[in-house]
Amino acid sequence: MTEMACQTNLDLQQFIEEAKKVTKYGKVADYIPALAEANQHDLSAAIYYVDGTCVKAGEMETYFTLQSISKVLTLALALMDHGQEYVFERVGMEPTGDPFNSIAKLETVNPSKPLNPMINAGALAVTNMIKGKNKEEKFERIITFVRNLTNNHTISISEKVAQSEYDTAWLNRSLCYFLKEHGIIQGDVEELMELYTKQCAIQMHSLDLAKIGAVFALNGKHPETGMQLIPEKIARLCKTFMVTCGMYNASGEFAIKVGIPAKSGVSGGILAVVPNRYGIGIFGPSLDEKGNSISGIRLLELLSAKYSLSIF
Ligand code: GLU
Repeated sequence: MTEMACQTNLDLQQFIEEAKKVTKYGKVADYIPALAEANQHDLSAAIYYVDGTCVKAGEMETYFTLQSISKVLTLALALMDHGQEYVFERVGMEPTGDPFNSIAKLETVNPSKPLNPMINAGALAVTNMIKGKNKEEKFERIITFVRNLTNNHTISISEKVAQSEYDTAWLNRSLCYFLKEHGIIQGDVEELMELYTKQCAIQMHSLDLAKIGAVFALNGKHPETGMQLIPEKIARLCKTFMVTCGMYNASGEFAIKVGIPAKSGVSGGILAVVPNRYGIGIFGPSLDEKGNSISGIRLLELLSAKYSLSIF
């Protein structure tokens, strides 16, 4: 199935028009300067079914960076590299209720380890676990994994967004030094920051993201190639984290209102999974106060109500 074969769908287009009404109430992220260039009123969505068919609507040509969505993918890779015991000795499994970049709990939780892999502290620890003999090989492994998940071998990074974050990520650097002090991460912090900012800057459009969602919908099996890219157990575990911690400190409300595994990023992307049915990829850069795409959430609420998507 190629992008050409993915048709614009009128129902989805109507939902997008409805969801777009709320973009004006949100704000584009600007703490990474390059993200501020996004158009607040954009909204695109694609649905990729497990049988390999798909539908799309909205500003499909716009590329966006994965940002925090990449945390789910590096978690899967780290678990494939090391197994659960190693990973969860260094990162916990509990939601925090704090903002994604908070340092607060690192000081109060004993032993001092990040509460989960979806907050920045946990994601930095996870990226630090990715195997490879140097930072180039580690990044190559991450991007190859993403290319396999999307079955799109042209996936690349936005050098501009990566550099923009690298030049300004003081809070993430402080998380790294804190974690290094406590033995959770090893090695050179600047190398880790380079790797992390590049993983966050991997760019694609909604259809690629929907395809990744479809892989999770099939518990790790690719709908096009039939390859088991992620062991089933690990795919399920990632989806569980998406439910408990995927939508920042709005994950509880999202579970009630939408009820499916999802992970958002500050660029305005949302990766959502309807188990055994389809993956959804959304891009809407206008964010609500918790950092989730405001129109993306609205769109998922509309879809969930209409098609009874909640897994609960
Ligand atoms: N690169 C971003 C950061 O670490 C990702 C945050 C996000 O999408 O939540 O600040």
